[in-house]
Amino acid sequence: MASGSPLFAGFEELADLTRERILSWLEERDPERLAELWRAADLVRHRAVGDAVHLRGLVEISNHCARRCAYCGLNAGNRGLPRYRMADDEILACAHRAAAMGFGTIVLQSGEDVGFTRERIAGLVRRVAAETGLAITLSLGERSEADLQAWREAGADRYLLRFETSDAALFAAIHPPAAGAPNDRMAQLRILRGLGYEVGSGVMVGVPGQSVASVADDIVLFRDLDLDMIGVGPFIPHPDTPLGDPLARSRPGVGEQIAADAETACKVVALARLVRPDANIPATTALAAADKEKGRALGLARGANVVMPNLTPASYRGDYDIYPDKAWAGETADAFAEGVVEMLAALGRTVGIGPGRRYSTKLPAGSNLRIQKS
Ligand code: SAM
Repeated sequence: MASGSPLFAGFEELADLTRERILSWLEERDPERLAELWRAADLVRHRAVGDAVHLRGLVEISNHCARRCAYCGLNAGNRGLPRYRMADDEILACAHRAAAMGFGTIVLQSGEDVGFTRERIAGLVRRVAAETGLAITLSLGERSEADLQAWREAGADRYLLRFETSDAALFAAIHPPAAGAPNDRMAQLRILRGLGYEVGSGVMVGVPGQSVASVADDIVLFRDLDLDMIGVGPFIPHPDTPLGDPLARSRPGVGEQIAADAETACKVVALARLVRPDANIPATTALAAADKEKGRALGLARGANVVMPNLTPASYRGDYDIYPDKAWAGETADAFAEGVVEMLAALGRTVGIGPGRRYSTKLPAGSNLRIQKS
């Protein structure tokens, strides 16, 4: 982004941020200086993507997971968790609900569930697209290129796969490889891009052993990967995971540990907006869980432009137990949506209409893949 860009008028020193400048913002504690960062992120968001907040209906379609991620309550080693996999008709009913509520996008998310085969997800995507016209985002973990291609051809528009941290040693420690499954998230992101998906990624902030410096690297990577969507949330310890143990919270010799609080996550959201002005950036549920009173509103005021209301049926929601005490976990979809609309009005923002695509998205040359109009 050229420093002469009108997006940064009045904040020229925040265009083209170097890694060193990003690091010094992450280390900044002065509330007045931070207020400048919040203001810049909010104004760049306003100029680049406008005031509309896009609502993406989130359906947590399965909590089965083949992985043993040390941070996540869905990991296969958590034997105490009752497991569920939604039926296709239940998922379709949620998609119709999203369309009826005026959302432009549905997000289908799950653990890495081999029970959802290539064919089954492809069939589901085709039905959701044909019956609702919604844009479809998938977030189903690391899957084979053939799976990702089949789902793209069936009509999936976007894929979310966080790289979680750019610190390779930390990633290897918290995300053990699964035999016979893809294990390189960066390679997966390149495949997704090549298939013409809008690509979303992101990180947790405050994982034990995650340094401030490595998060500066993460933010540089947001820019280098030219991400369409960037999801950032504070790490929230789950007691039934290896990282839920308070003794896990140290990793000597890697530099200053980054905090797992809402303010630090907001710094990452704001810097993500400055390095990727036209990306879609959600105010995440983890941010709302870290600061129940105002986490989501703070995210929206500090660079975010997307909220993902949870449409998972109440009977399953409690078992999608990534981390404890998910914000609004017990609330109905209607109450949640009402609360969001009220919050947006208070922030002077509007509800986005349509799928809310990244403006510059293009299909690869020669592609004959179906794509819906914005
Ligand atoms: N299985 C898919 C995947 O790994 O991409 C999608 C589901 S996974 C539960 C979605 C995201 O939840 C992960 O990318 C991770 O960043 C986040 N997450 C998992 N455990 C968390 C925790 N304890 N605190 C905060 N975020 C967490």
